[in-house]
Amino acid sequence: MMEIRILGAHNIETKNTGCVCILIDDILAVDAGALTANLSIIQQQNLKAILLTHQHYDHIRDIPALGMNFFLFEKAIELYTTRTVYEALLTHLLNDSLYPNFIEKPQEKPSIHFNMIEPGRTAIIAGYEVLPVSVNHTVPTIGYQIASRDGKKIFISSDTGPGLDDCWKQISPEMLLIETTLLNKNEDFAHESGHLTAALLQQELISFRKIKGYLPKVVLTHMNPLVEKDIKAEISKVEKALNMKIRFGYEGMRINI
Ligand SMILES: [Zn+2]
Ligand SMILES: [Zn+2]
Repeated sequence: MMEIRILGAHNIETKNTGCVCILIDDILAVDAGALTANLSIIQQQNLKAILLTHQHYDHIRDIPALGMNFFLFEKAIELYTTRTVYEALLTHLLNDSLYPNFIEKPQEKPSIHFNMIEPGRTAIIAGYEVLPVSVNHTVPTIGYQIASRDGKKIFISSDTGPGLDDCWKQISPEMLLIETTLLNKNEDFAHESGHLTAALLQQELISFRKIKGYLPKVVLTHMNPLVEKDIKAEISKVEKALNMKIRFGYEGMRINI
């Protein structure tokens, strides 16, 4: 059993939408786009680890806030990400100019404890078997396959453009949380910016089925809320073409698998 709770399902923050942030069983967070505003002090203290997919601001924005909170809680939060993201955080945010360097402070027990992950190398994190897999975005980006103790597997793609065959070969999730940011008419921009449209998602799901022999359950994230209604119309065509149901993630959504 695994409970997936979506705290942020979109690519921008407004009163009704939060940036991407997914919480597993209240203890493991993937990305920090909408973490602190949605969790009480106790809930934040109960977090065991945070996995970051890439350095874009909509995915890491609450890391400085969380660093301050854990500093005040006098506790440390385990952060898992690539060296690239770690260096971006140290250079641009936790640089003692914009905000304190909670990755190195306080010296005896830094408030954020960095753990390096590498694509293709499985790690046990907060009791889950986590497999980081590279996806296709404008900066190096990792999707995470997360397996519970009873063997349930999900894959969280993060931001990605098309061309995921290599990724599909490495994973076997029951559920895919994948992005669909743009409308079909913006396909050129999707290639350029490393994102998916409904039509591009359809192609990726077709290659998933070809490679794996099945289709996982699909939940969409990272929608642009300004065009979400139109994305829904385009996704309904994908549902028909593939004879499957595709769910849209939303803030506060809970899924049990
Ligand atoms: Zn991004
Ligand atoms: Zn993003």
